[in-house]
Amino acid sequence: MSEKTIFKRIIDKEIPANIVHEDELCLAFHDVNPQAPVHVLVIPKKEIASANQLTGDDAELLGHLFGVIRTLAQKLGLENGYRVVTNCGNDGGQTVYHLHFHLLGGRPLAWPPG
Ligand code: 5GP
Repeated sequence: MSEKTIFKRIIDKEIPANIVHEDELCLAFHDVNPQAPVHVLVIPKKEIASANQLTGDDAELLGHLFGVIRTLAQKLGLENGYRVVTNCGNDGGQTVYHLHFHLLGGRPLAWPPG
């Protein structure tokens, strides 16, 4: 069996994280290397490597994740707006191969990204 990703180890509580939300489908925690005043990662508990592996079966899960993102944005004071990012694959800058959405905010965010 392939090795667990760092995020699967966080889900399994093998390593600590600053968790801001948990339910039966997902987990959200502060990024260890924040790129903005608010930088939270929202991840499904289901092991999906990246957005490239999503299927129609995940439609409900994705709706749930975006509901959690909206609730967290409100809770974390991002009333001026925020950005949701998922890096996909090597050129997309993905480093952890467990699907995750970056929720970034608390300052104006430049576009285009690097
Ligand atoms: P990616 O580059 O795959 O889009 O994003 C991975 C993110 O996970 C990075 O922003 C990185 O800082 C974060 N990260 C990596 N390892 C850990 C960890 O052990 N704990 C937390 N909280 N964040 C992590």
